[in-house]
Amino acid sequence: MPSLNIHRNDTVKILTGADRGKTERVLRVFPDKGTVLVEHVRVVKKTISSKTGKRTRGGIAEQESPINVSNVALVCPSCGPVRVGYKQDGNTRVRVCKKCGQTLPTKK
Ligand SMILES: [Zn+2]
Repeated sequence: MPSLNIHRNDTVKILTGADRGKTERVLRVFPDKGTVLVEHVRVVKKTISSKTGKRTRGGIAEQESPINVSNVALVCPSCGPVRVGYKQDGNTRVRVCKKCGQTLPTKK
């Protein structure tokens, strides 16, 4: 199973596109597609057709679309957006900041 170096709940910086420069939280990752869903990034307006029994507000909703993982950089608390390295910590492989070497844990 392929895995990405970006995980859910990571803080990432957007590198390209209309949302470039934003620092936002990862909502979902799609390892098979190599894409991530990032809060407030590439928001599209979706028209909601009103279904019976459900009260909808106005009929337009905003929703994020996935972007390619290569368009975001993981943010290290000390260094800002960085490249991610890996190191073995006991039996687990942990992500580390390539700049300062600190461990970048996956948030639950
Ligand atoms: Zn760092």
